[in-house]
Formats: sequence, structure tokens, C-alpha cells
Amino acid sequence: MLDADFFRRWMTATAASVDREAQHLTDLDSPIGDADHGSNLQRGFRAVTAVLEKEAPDTPGAVLMLAGRQLVSTVGGASGPLYGTLLRRTGKALGDAAEVSEEELAQALRTGVDAVMALGGAAPGDKTMIDALVPAVDALGESFAAARAAAEQGAAATTPLQARKGRASYLGERSIGHQDPGATSAALLVAGLSEAAGGAR
Ligand code: ADP
Ligand code: MG
Repeated sequence: MLDADFFRRWMTATAASVDREAQHLTDLDSPIGDADHGSNLQRGFRAVTAVLEKEAPDTPGAVLMLAGRQLVSTVGGASGPLYGTLLRRTGKALGDAAEVSEEELAQALRTGVDAVMALGGAAPGDKTMIDALVPAVDALGESFAAARAAAEQGAAATTPLQARKGRASYLGERSIGHQDPGATSAALLVAGLSEAAGGAR
């Protein structure tokens, strides 16, 4: 079972990898965006770490809802409301249980990803974070490690796609040949799950 501590570790592991990869994410956002994705998320996840320490929410759902609210209020750009919605809706779906199963997490995350698609209007293949999140949720029933691999493959597979949503879509065919920054950061978020589980699963 996964308790509030697991979810806190998920958020802090993601914050650490976003810190490490911030320059890379911003570099990816340079040719097909406005070169702010790394700094946007770095600001957001640093604030998430700080607020989780300060308020110490004690259920999985409360951890994710607080993290999501914090992302919405601190991340500028398209990705803030989208990641905020992902975490808030996933957290809401987990309810107020003190512990949740991996299967309940997989189901809740699917609800969260569906909410991101409803909010942003992106479908798989549109070259967005959805291209990492959907395969990850599909693989989550198997293991955290499988979800991580699926998200990384999904992110890599955005390179030959033409963007149909977000800022990159303004470039039309010129968006082809670049990996999507949001799909890349979504893979970091998913990798954080297996890190929170100690890398063993
Ligand atoms: P902005 O584009 O406003 O500068 P960011 O650079 O922080 O915001 O985030 C860009 C990422 O957001 C993109 O790489 C893409 O993955 C994701 N994104 C943008 N629009 C959408 C959308 N409508 N649905 C899903 N993801 C989106
Ligand atoms: Mg940007």
C-alpha cells in the first residue's frame, strides 16, 4: 500500500529531477517554444516541495491536491494549469484514504490524465505531455518501472510528430524533428514514482 509519505517522496523525487534537467527542458523548449519550460517547472516543483514541508498533508489525496494547487499558482505558461489539473484531479480521485493500492493509483491517474485531455484538448499523437502520460498510465498496472519506460518511449516518440496543440503547433511542419519538452518532463514525473518506490518496482 502507498501512504502519504510515498506521495511526498514522489513529489520530492520529481522536484530533484526537474532541478537536474531544467536546462535540458528549457533547451527542448527553445526551437519549438519560448525556452521557459525548465524554469517554469523548476519554480513550480520547488514551491511544491516547500509547501508540502510546511503544511504536511497526511493523506495521498491531500498531498497531490496541495501539490497541484501550488503548480497552478506558481508555474506560468500552459504547463502549469495542465500539470496542476493532473495532480489535483488524481488526488481528488484518491479521496481521503490514508493508504491506497497501486491499482487505485493507476485508476486515479487515468482520471487525472483524462482531465488534462479535457482541459487542453490534446489527444495522443498531438506532440504534448499526453504522449508520455497515456502510455505510462496504460503500463502502470504492470509496474512503476514499466510505466517509467513507457513514458520515456512516449516522450522520445514525439520527435517525428507535428505539434497540433500548444505553442509548438504555431510552427506547423517546422515542429517536426524536435522532442516535446512537456512529454519529456512528464516522463520525469512518471520516473519519480519508481524512485519513490525505491527504484525496486
Ligand atoms: P508554454 O508553452 O506556455 O511556454 P511550457 O513551456 O511550460 O508552456 O510547456 C509547454 C508544454 O506544454 C508543451 O511541450 C506540451 O507538452 C504541453 N502542452 C502545451 N499545450 C498543451 C495542451 N493543450 N495539452 C497538453 N499539453 C500541452
Ligand atoms: Mg514554453
